[in-house]
Amino acid sequence: MDAEDAQPKVEEDLRQLIVVGGGVAGCTAALYGKRYGLDVLLLEKAAPGGQTATASLVENYPGFPGGISGFELAQRVRQQVEEAGIEFVSETVTGLEPRGPCWTVRGETNSYAAMAVILALGAAPRRLNVSGEARLLGKGVSYCATCDGFFYRGKRVAVVGGGNSAVDEALYLADLAQQVYLIHRRHELRAEAFLQERAFARPNLEIIWDTVVEEMVGETELHHLRLRNVRTQRSSELEVEGVFVAIGHVPQTDWLAGVLELQDGFIVTDAMMRTSRPGVFAAGDVRNTPLRQITTAVGDATLAAYSAYQHISALAEAGVQARGR
Ligand code: NAP
Repeated sequence: MDAEDAQPKVEEDLRQLIVVGGGVAGCTAALYGKRYGLDVLLLEKAAPGGQTATASLVENYPGFPGGISGFELAQRVRQQVEEAGIEFVSETVTGLEPRGPCWTVRGETNSYAAMAVILALGAAPRRLNVSGEARLLGKGVSYCATCDGFFYRGKRVAVVGGGNSAVDEALYLADLAQQVYLIHRRHELRAEAFLQERAFARPNLEIIWDTVVEEMVGETELHHLRLRNVRTQRSSELEVEGVFVAIGHVPQTDWLAGVLELQDGFIVTDAMMRTSRPGVFAAGDVRNTPLRQITTAVGDATLAAYSAYQHISALAEAGVQARGR
């Protein structure tokens, strides 16, 4: 064998690691990948930041006594990614296909190939799917109080949901709006006790229990909500200028069906964030996990990057070589 044959083949367009998703999970995975000395490409359809950027106040991320706004935390994570020199491309990813022992990531604009892929796709706000909701989006209907709450200063607004997000949004809006109604389908909130206590203490925050929204009514902008009490079956109208739907999130993984094992749309992984296919890892809210927090997303991403590094090292030992950095 001559010297040339002894050199593994370097595929110029093959990267070592592609991270899809620029929320805290994706950014953490990219940062760790970089620290392992890998050539990392971060793909994200919008600006990095993800759902964290929409949280009004994050009080349960260590290191920030008194809390930090989600927007600022997301900004800081983004700055860290930039400082690390991680390559970032704005791309909507639509497909994932095997390419020998590696993977092709297809986007709306380009295709990319890598020895390992970490999917940190997060999740999108769940819709109520009631009449008027889609039509009045941006005209009174919102999924993000931190983003749109400003427009409802001094007005009457409703929040739908009973989890941490709904109560967090209701509290945020209570500082701005004249009156906030929290509409919940049961008689018990799912939100943590300390958030509930704060909500109960707000004079301009009223909880409407055992009630569902059946219709969002308005021609060019929201005029009122049609409600139904699920115990009495009585219908009523609630006049509000804004409604914030905060009933959880759903993964956007339709394009991965048939490629990876999914459970209710969430990507199935083992404890090391390995999916059903070698070389593909998942982290954060897109994973089938019992808890979706910023802290768990960061932990997932750290493990995913470690597993990806191990996988890439094994491929390299077997002779697969991506372009160097
Ligand atoms: P969540 O905890 O899953 O709560 C969703 C809420 O929406 C529940 O109260 C649920 O009602 C209600 N709901 C679901 N589908 C509905 C429908 N079709 N119609 C009416 N109501 C519906 O979701 P989340 O509040 O977005 O929180 C997600 C995760 O992020 C959680 O792990 C949460 O702890 C975390 N988070 C943490 C913080 C914080 O720590 N400050 C802030 C935000 C989010 P039921 O209760 O009847 O099921």
